[in-house]
Amino acid sequence: MENPAYTSVGFIGLGAMGKPMAEQLAIKLPTNVPLIVYDIVASAVTDLVERYPGKVLAGKSPLDVTAKSQVIFSMVPEGAHVKSVYLDETSGVCCRPLNNRMLVDCSTIDLATSLAVKDQITRHHPQASFYDAPVSGGVIGAEKGTIAFFLGCSEDDPNLAQLAQLLNLMGKEFIPCGAPSLGLCAKLSNNYLSGLIAIAASESLIMGMRGGLDPRVLSRVFAAGTGQNTIIDRFNPCPGVAPEAPSTRGYKGGFKVQLMKKDFSLAVAMAAQQGTRLALGSAGLQLYGEAAEDPRCRDLDSRVVFRLLGGDENWKERFEANND
Ligand code: NAD
Repeated sequence: MENPAYTSVGFIGLGAMGKPMAEQLAIKLPTNVPLIVYDIVASAVTDLVERYPGKVLAGKSPLDVTAKSQVIFSMVPEGAHVKSVYLDETSGVCCRPLNNRMLVDCSTIDLATSLAVKDQITRHHPQASFYDAPVSGGVIGAEKGTIAFFLGCSEDDPNLAQLAQLLNLMGKEFIPCGAPSLGLCAKLSNNYLSGLIAIAASESLIMGMRGGLDPRVLSRVFAAGTGQNTIIDRFNPCPGVAPEAPSTRGYKGGFKVQLMKKDFSLAVAMAAQQGTRLALGSAGLQLYGEAAEDPRCRDLDSRVVFRLLGGDENWKERFEANND
């Protein structure tokens, strides 16, 4: 990084996404810029500190990370955790003067909580900036440094150029979505769409296969026709069609169905609050709710709805036998 705008960076929340994102910073930040990390799970902190000695330093709390960092990223599961990280009265980020610090929350949470946290920060620390910056690209994208950030700010935000220096170390793209909380609005809208496409793709595959079509042929038809979409092309819900798809690896290593259920629920709640009519929202919510509880699907990639809907995962034997 040329002329880094920061002398120190903090990272709070070192789980499936946060850990590889923090690692990208540990590897790519200039040598004289330390990374201060914190997680409520102590082993997540010591693991990174031991892996990057002298570069990654242990924080004792969000407050401690803030005392030692000019810009702070957070990546925790839900709104309640974000509130605790920023607003906890004894250990939160906001327990000390923040001056012109930049605070960037990458968690996927509801818009109201994000706006409430931003509001508290703006009222008590007017020089500091808080951004919602949820990400897309999954754990593999975080490991490869290819995630996309959806930023809750306008394109002419005065901090954007500085922020870009750090976001570019962790991802391949960032999109300023217009204003606070719109990064989250964009992320939830995207996951609603992606979740519904996975259901529709599974249903369409199942009906075509039961009608006698080889799913490889059927997927080529979808790709050439108006049904073309990324779920069919790259994340095909039917195992053995797309070589890189999680379904082909036993639905392992993708976007967990419980996370899709969480994001889908947040999107449906957002739409309800707006008064937006959803023709497919409750059906999608019910299916992802079922999948998240079903032992055949839980902890697996969300495209496992193909299994829940009764898709034939052993189709190859059938079609290859027919070709003999
Ligand atoms: P995770 O459960 O693997 O990790 C969350 C981490 O936050 C854990 O290590 C936990 O100990 C820590 N944590 C919880 N409360 C904390 C607190 N108060 N202070 C410090 N640390 C705390 O979750 P994840 O998969 O990394 O997801 C994080 C966020 O990213 C979620 O909002 C999720 O929806 C979103 N997301 C996940 C993926 C994915 O593929 N996993 C993709 C895009 C976005």
